Amino acid sequence: MSIAICPGSFDPITLGHLNIIRRTAQIFDKVVVLIMLNSSKTTPMFSIDERVEMVRKAVERFPNVEVDTSEGLLAEYAKKYDGAVIVKGLRAASDFEYEFQMNLINKKINPELETMFLTANEKYTFLSSSVVREMARYGADLNGFVPCEIIEEVERKAQSWRH
Ligand code: ADP
Repeated sequence: MSIAICPGSFDPITLGHLNIIRRTAQIFDKVVVLIMLNSSKTTPMFSIDERVEMVRKAVERFPNVEVDTSEGLLAEYAKKYDGAVIVKGLRAASDFEYEFQMNLINKKINPELETMFLTANEKYTFLSSSVVREMARYGADLNGFVPCEIIEEVERKAQSWRH
């Protein structure tokens, strides 16, 4: 069985993420969306549990997609599944530089681990979780940016941050 891992912080999940997950699920038998605690990023907007809940809602319609979390290294987590491949989305050249470096580090820890990249859909090349957080803070309409199932929750959280 072919297994892909789609890692990220998903703070929150966007339509750009969902596009990569959907396309990966068409290629692999099983996809694990791995929500990671990223120590280098600033204070997250959503807790891990909230992010899991939102990703679950967004991927509910895909039968071969599962959600998991990890606080450790991706290359260590991947050892859990024999032959699993990391799948990531590439938006711009800046993504490539970062991903290329990450891939070299992952290879040092787990030489068997392969990473594949899907180019971002042109509709979403500008879209990131940080763009969504910024928009939500200013009360912008999130339609077309995050999955419709989670819009209310993101808006509610942004409102509580404003008060
Ligand atoms: P972000 O950069 O939005 O904070 P993550 O750290 O959660 O997102 O990213 C996880 C993965 O999703 C990365 O491989 C990233 O390149 C990919 N990704 C994020 N946003 C998009 C997008 N709009 N289109 C395609 N891939 C994306």
